Amino acid sequence: MKDCLFCRIIRGEVSARKVFEDEHTFAFEDINPQGPTHVLVIPKKHIRGLKEAATEDVEAVGRCHLVAAQIARERNIEDGYRTVVNVGPKAGQSVFHLHVHLIGGRDLQWPPG
Ligand code: AMP
Ligand code: ZN
Repeated sequence: MKDCLFCRIIRGEVSARKVFEDEHTFAFEDINPQGPTHVLVIPKKHIRGLKEAATEDVEAVGRCHLVAAQIARERNIEDGYRTVVNVGPKAGQSVFHLHVHLIGGRDLQWPPG
């Protein structure tokens, strides 16, 4: 997608602090971190959000979560982290390219706000 911020980050047109990349998935540091670890994991395929994901996107969605788990393992935050997908503006989705937030490295409250 030409004008999508996260597609532009994948293409290197917008700078970001890359954490991980493979054929299907890209991960980078959130610009406004909500904890010592706050990484965004995204599919390279442009999918607008979770509610727009189709059956054919099952692997893309799953891969994002497994990459998040791998990053959490590497950062030794497996005693407690959260993966979050905000869906729709009322839940705080502000970028319309599917992304999994990986947040950890601090105590997390429940329920989230
Ligand atoms: P959401 O509000 O769930 O759509 O999440 C979007 C996230 O993208 C927010 O946590 C923002 O801080 C983050 N964000 C926005 N622009 C950038 C950027 N240029 N580089 C890294 N993270 C960004
Ligand atoms: Zn995109």
